[in-house]
Amino acid sequence: MQVQHIMCPVCGGRIPIEHNDKVNRCEYCASPVLGSDQNRNCSRHPDRLAVEVCHVCNEMFCEEDIEYRVADYGGKLFTIVNCDKEYCVDESQWAKPLNREYQQLVNMDWADNIDNLILRVTGLGAVLMMIFELVFVLSMIYLQYFTTHSANLPMFFLPGDIVIVLSILGNLLSAILLQTALQVYIHERQLGSGIVLLIILVAEAAFLIGRGLYFNLLINPIPWLLPLLFGAFTFSVILVFIGSMMATAVGYKKHKQFRSARITLGLTAER
Ligand SMILES: [Zn+2]
Ligand SMILES: [Zn+2]
Ligand SMILES: [Zn+2]
Repeated sequence: MQVQHIMCPVCGGRIPIEHNDKVNRCEYCASPVLGSDQNRNCSRHPDRLAVEVCHVCNEMFCEEDIEYRVADYGGKLFTIVNCDKEYCVDESQWAKPLNREYQQLVNMDWADNIDNLILRVTGLGAVLMMIFELVFVLSMIYLQYFTTHSANLPMFFLPGDIVIVLSILGNLLSAILLQTALQVYIHERQLGSGIVLLIILVAEAAFLIGRGLYFNLLINPIPWLLPLLFGAFTFSVILVFIGSMMATAVGYKKHKQFRSARITLGLTAER
């Protein structure tokens, strides 16, 4: 018989489904995948729906028969579940029991929606900034080589090397901006990346305005170019600005919640 494979929902690894009536484990991350014909009820209370799979015996249990533990693996915390059978408890001793109270106090579910919004706003702003960079470079090349304006306006002459250097610098800055913008989603980094994003934004805005003035854009002969560039620039700056302010505010709120949770549980001395 041919063994069917599915993709692990946690790590994306290939899991061979060897048992249709039992739990199959991902060999990479040990996530359980239920067999298609498997009974979904608690193996001790057949009338109750099971909620977890014991990581030791692979049987399914209801909330009453299980313990949650937290394990430190390579500096990352993850939760494991074991049932209350003596053997399974013994085998799980290496992991610490999960402190439910602490988990509740540091629960960040309230921030899910706002985090999504922040990511979208800053992400969109940062992507627009990159598109702006591209349009800017293309219009400079167009002005320089495909119109006669540069000949008529000596002030407008663009030395080729400097155009390239400034464009690369601009792209680099906007890439760093985008990279930072995508970090606002991570709880622990939100506050820091919100603040960093604000600083990069100021640097980027100063750089773009300075570059525009250097290229003498104010006297450029195409009437629609300046409003277009300035409009796109302002729009993306506003988006990133709002996003970074929101990330800073929400990040600070999370930081406070985390701190007060640690104080409540006596993990940190109150100052
Ligand atoms: Zn996996
Ligand atoms: Zn067990
Ligand atoms: Zn049960």
